[in-house]
Amino acid sequence: MAMHDGTQALNQASNQLSDDAHGYYTRGENIVDAKAPVGPIKDRWTNRKFENRLVNPANRRKLDVIIVGTGLAGGAAAATMGEAGYNVKSFCYQDSPRRAHSIAAQGGINAAKNYKEDGDSTFRLFYDTVKGGDYRSRESNVYRLAEVSANIIDQCVAQGVPFAREYGGLLDNRSFGGVQVSRTFYARGQTGQQLLLGAYQAMERQVGAGTVQEFTRHEMLEVIVVDDRARGIIARNMVTGEIETHLADVVVLATGGYGNVFFLSTNAMGSNVTAAWRAHRKGAYMANPCYTQIHPTCIPVSGEHQSKLTLMSESLRNDGRIWVPKNREDCEKDPRDIPEEDRDYYLERIYPSFGNLVPRDIASRQAKNMCDEGRGVGPLVGDFRRGVYLDFADAIARMGKKAVETKYGNLFDMYARITGEDPYESPMRIYPAVHYVMGGLWVDYDLQSNIPGLFVTGEANFSDHGANRLGASALMQGLADGYFVLPNTIRDYLADGPFEKVSEDHPAVVEARTSVEERITRFLSINGTRSADSYHKELGHIMWEYCGMERSEDGLRKAIDLIRELKADFWSNLKVLGTADSLNQSLEKAGRVVDFIELGELMCIDALNRRESCGGHFRAESQTEDGEALRHDDEFAYVAAWEWGGDSLDGGQPVLHKEDLIYTAIEMKQRSYK
Ligand SMILES: Cc1cc2nc3c(=O)[nH]c(=O)nc-3n(C[C@H](O)[C@H](O)[C@H](O)COP(=O)(O)OP(=O)(O)OC[C@H]3O[C@@H](n4cnc5c(N)ncnc54)[C@H](O)[C@@H]3O)c2cc1C
Repeated sequence: MAMHDGTQALNQASNQLSDDAHGYYTRGENIVDAKAPVGPIKDRWTNRKFENRLVNPANRRKLDVIIVGTGLAGGAAAATMGEAGYNVKSFCYQDSPRRAHSIAAQGGINAAKNYKEDGDSTFRLFYDTVKGGDYRSRESNVYRLAEVSANIIDQCVAQGVPFAREYGGLLDNRSFGGVQVSRTFYARGQTGQQLLLGAYQAMERQVGAGTVQEFTRHEMLEVIVVDDRARGIIARNMVTGEIETHLADVVVLATGGYGNVFFLSTNAMGSNVTAAWRAHRKGAYMANPCYTQIHPTCIPVSGEHQSKLTLMSESLRNDGRIWVPKNREDCEKDPRDIPEEDRDYYLERIYPSFGNLVPRDIASRQAKNMCDEGRGVGPLVGDFRRGVYLDFADAIARMGKKAVETKYGNLFDMYARITGEDPYESPMRIYPAVHYVMGGLWVDYDLQSNIPGLFVTGEANFSDHGANRLGASALMQGLADGYFVLPNTIRDYLADGPFEKVSEDHPAVVEARTSVEERITRFLSINGTRSADSYHKELGHIMWEYCGMERSEDGLRKAIDLIRELKADFWSNLKVLGTADSLNQSLEKAGRVVDFIELGELMCIDALNRRESCGGHFRAESQTEDGEALRHDDEFAYVAAWEWGGDSLDGGQPVLHKEDLIYTAIEMKQRSYK
């Protein structure tokens, strides 16, 4: 692991020669300044914090901040900005901020505390994250993330988050994929829930203090941009149907990820792309939309009726061993009857250094390979068995059932309730499923999008994880953004405020509001025969088949055609029941689904353009002799930031802006976990 002084670039700007997506897009200007500081990497964040201008406490009261989203990113930001004395308006579509999808996070949160004295450090967390993301993330952002990681744990402990502790009372931690140290802090299998309760309490304290105003059951449907600055949002009150205008000096989107574009995913049913997509259509760039994380340990799909998949936390790979039968003939047998010598612990065999704790993209791809070879287990779905074993027999023999139960009990119970099988007695069956998106709205080092005054945090932005996120790093990023990064960077922007007052009859406000009203009227008036859900399901099939675990040039072209047909059909044959002026889930879904359709099209174009494999983006045309992802740094070491160029049904094409990824602190290498 070489360390450099950060003054010299260790790689060159990319020069793309291949052009698979020719005809589907146009080229825009390169992004030459993402505002990342220069100089030694360890000083960049300190210097930036010092350079950022301050806002004096008396002026903060005069500044209005809208934060859409109350998950870890948005909840932490609202609490911190409220505490600092700004006027915060916080929005979410659930009935309580506490129900944000972050509550589902199970396994843990990373921090470079080195409590185990096993060689961890800020630099190692930084290095692991850049390598884990297959050298497709921005190094300055990732270093900052590693740097503030330790503060997050202190902050949460001070809030009373009940992290797991060792017998002597010290905080415990465990390992996650892609690393060889133990740096994941956890609260059994409910880490997200406990962290969210911490952020929520801190935010509620500010509600009590009068600095934060909450708007639950409100769905943001448009960004208001006045004189090229984000100045507010249009939201629909989901209970009464009223369309509301909210104005502010700055807008923050903390609206989560869009994995539900695949219909089936481990995300909460409500997670969607609408807030980000509306901002994209208003001019915000969407970066690396094709980078999707497919998590290796989920409960396999059991049939066509399903609308949701369930994750089995990555923490289980600390003690569980993954295997398939060596011989196809054994696939139907009870796993307990298959002797040790007939089992293939394939991750331990192929990757002896990391074993079962290889990163997610690699574990997922190998599970798929085993099933493609005909060695999958579980029931036949079509002519294919989608499952591999995750076995705790050794762990139970080594640690005892009680110890396994203490560590993973609630996950085992969840598995038993869903499958009807007892994982203490027989191995779990798992299979990869869509889980997280590394792509999202483009932001600079300050987390500001290319629309001034529009900041984006948490899973909704693209910034830190490159082409593959390491486990337990999303919670770290959401809380880093919300508690530490955004409150520092947004200040510099707000130092120029308060901005000139905008009235509700300003043409840009009227335009935003009218566009929302017209869209709703359009959904209700098509009066066709198909539900929004049926379009969503069909889109999900297309995306999984052609833009899922493996992507090819032909498949992606086919997917784009199919998505365009689906979109045309949506606009002519959609059926939305009910009215606009009441609670109407069918109307809510229509808006979300058509945004997913447009996003899906862009994801396929992005995947088609990137003729390399990196992290979760595996192009069949670009693999090593052993079937591992093969990057092409000379052509693709860049962030693909896409600008909305109009609807393809009207002949529009997205515009590609490239931001070169220049490394000064670590050299780019072919990833190896062997
Ligand atoms: C099952 C599961 C387990 C996971 N476990 C872990 C783990 O152990 N460790 C880890 O690091 N990561 C984990 N992750 C990933 C992690 O949970 C998420 O990436 C993270 O919680 C996202 O937080 P967020 O604040 O960005 O968004 P979210 O928590 O998704 O919050 C989004 C917020 O935006 C609001 N919103 C969205 N759109 C609108 C709109 N249009 N109008 C108004 N409000 C809107 C929602 O109401 C919500 O409040 C897991 C993910 C899943 C699916």
